[in-house]
Amino acid sequence: MPIDPKLPYDTANIFARILRGELPCNKVYEDEHALAFHDIRPQAPVHVLVIPKDPFVSWDDFTAKGTDAQIAGFMRAVGTVTRQLELDAPGYRLMVNMGHDGHQEVPHLHVHIFGGRQFFQMIGD
Ligand code: 5GP
Repeated sequence: MPIDPKLPYDTANIFARILRGELPCNKVYEDEHALAFHDIRPQAPVHVLVIPKDPFVSWDDFTAKGTDAQIAGFMRAVGTVTRQLELDAPGYRLMVNMGHDGHQEVPHLHVHIFGGRQFFQMIGD
């Protein structure tokens, strides 16, 4: 079920629990701004999620309320993860689902990194 991105941050969401160490994840990268881990239901040979450490519900919430330092740190972390995964030469796809129409299911901002194969021109339904 897609989330309502205008609701306040839910500290019980699954990615908040991963950040607090209450639930395990298959970690790829961590720094002061971001945590990256493999998606539990991969949709590509490489499917990694990058989440900010701070509590932002969505891309909309983050870009409206995040500080320049939080946004820059998170964006740089996404780039670092793609290079660590050696996806920079073959290329990769980034995706952020936002709110109901974007079919966002977890109410903590996450960037999907897809790699390991060539993708079609657009992701459909
Ligand atoms: P969304 O549709 O919100 O953009 O994507 C949420 C993603 O989180 C999905 O790809 C889903 O497989 C992944 N996911 C949901 N729960 C967990 C979990 O507990 N651990 C991990 N690693 N991924 C999860």
